Amino acid sequence: MKQLRQNIRRVGLLLCVLFSLLVLYGAYSLTNYGSRWFSTSANSWLRGAKQDVVPGDIYDANGVLLAGSLVTDTPEGFTVTRQYHTDPAVRRSVAHAVGDASGNVANSVETFMAKALYGFDQSLTERVSDFIGGQRRKGDSLTLTLDSALSAYILNRLEAIRLPADEPGEATLAPAGAVTVMNWKTGAVLAELSYPTFDPANLQTAARSSRQPYFNRATQGMYAPGSTFKVVTAAAVLGDPQLSGRSFTCTGAYETEDSEGRTRLITDAGTDSAQGILVSHGQIDLRRAFRVSCNNTFAEAASLVTDAKLRRQAMAFGFDANFLFRDIVLENSSYPDENRTPWQIAMTGIGQSGLQASPLHLCLIASAIANGGVMMEPKLVARATASNGTTRRVLEPQTARWVFDDPAVPAMLRDYMYDVVNAEGGTGTRAALVGWRICGKTGSAEVDSQARTNALFIGFIDDERAPYALSIVLEDMGGGGTYAAPLAHDIFAYLVEHLQNTGELL
Ligand SMILES: [Zn+2]
Repeated sequence: MKQLRQNIRRVGLLLCVLFSLLVLYGAYSLTNYGSRWFSTSANSWLRGAKQDVVPGDIYDANGVLLAGSLVTDTPEGFTVTRQYHTDPAVRRSVAHAVGDASGNVANSVETFMAKALYGFDQSLTERVSDFIGGQRRKGDSLTLTLDSALSAYILNRLEAIRLPADEPGEATLAPAGAVTVMNWKTGAVLAELSYPTFDPANLQTAARSSRQPYFNRATQGMYAPGSTFKVVTAAAVLGDPQLSGRSFTCTGAYETEDSEGRTRLITDAGTDSAQGILVSHGQIDLRRAFRVSCNNTFAEAASLVTDAKLRRQAMAFGFDANFLFRDIVLENSSYPDENRTPWQIAMTGIGQSGLQASPLHLCLIASAIANGGVMMEPKLVARATASNGTTRRVLEPQTARWVFDDPAVPAMLRDYMYDVVNAEGGTGTRAALVGWRICGKTGSAEVDSQARTNALFIGFIDDERAPYALSIVLEDMGGGGTYAAPLAHDIFAYLVEHLQNTGELL
């Protein structure tokens, strides 16, 4: 009997401990990731609040009103009509980041930040004082890190690009894709564009489009990184003392084996076996191979590094991580499953074979290299302001992850990326900007069942005075050096010009 009582007491104690842990975990999750839970449509509090709270306004980094509310009194109370910026170019350029009143865009500020916008961050005293004062309750206003003028400029440049025509004279559309720009020191996101976009003030047109205009390709789109992934492969080689000084021989076609033991060739760009054209770089070191984006070398490098070490390096950059950022919902990037054939491993070295990353993650990778190996958490909210004017919170830069143990590796990668844009034979020279250390990497990623490749570019300004990084993905466009690098040049030029005219960072 005594034994039994003791056992019951033990079990009871264990349950108490477990329950306390659950409560602590719940409190922790709610404090840190409350927005995630809060913005789900199942939340009945939020549905209730939408009836009797005026949502807060949304501003860009310069105080430009991006979303406000028109309040109309009715016999039952009032109704709110959400109103967006007057310029359609601005509305369309920030549409995915800001969102729309109907919640068509998943995880936009309008939905993901509903907790703040509908006043759930207010204290009891604030609510009571609003109630006593007979005031209509208004949620917190948010000032974003986004620059709407920069965003509209990028949209304008993007829409000037046209997909290649299949027939001469055929009219074509601007390519689908995404452009992201951030401050690599603070993590502040300055632009987050997804294309095709839509006009939140005219949703009928978007509803008729078959090109998924509500889908946020910048944060939710999954793309093969192609040769932009060579920064990861190069990092793995440079971090391996047995390989870092190694020289390679490029024959223009790296021979490897698939699962059935058949020979597979990984060829360099420009090689066309049907035409008998073979591009080979001969004796080549890693730095030049990176500059000319030699597939032969990087396929071989991945094989030498081994799948396990390449995976570890990719994971250090955030592949396979569960991204849980406070301001932004970012789809997780993935490194392919284990037990792969030599061919698949070699293809990973050049950014193919099941690798998937979002454009914003690619921008984070470039940012981490620029920032000495420290990846900052992407931030979208510069400031939250209560309806009585007091500041609720301001942006505090946070480290998302330390990518490198050895600071020498990101320093070498910066030089490699500088060469891509500035040295003879570099694939990204069209991104160059006189007077600035522009660093980058081009990519032309093959997509199954597609005739054309996606054009990619990731890069940054290697200068503390202008700490900008960007990523560009243009679907079905062709070569990254030809189509994405010129857009990178335009964006860097805009940023630097603004800096020189105003003396202020965007
Ligand atoms: Zn080569």
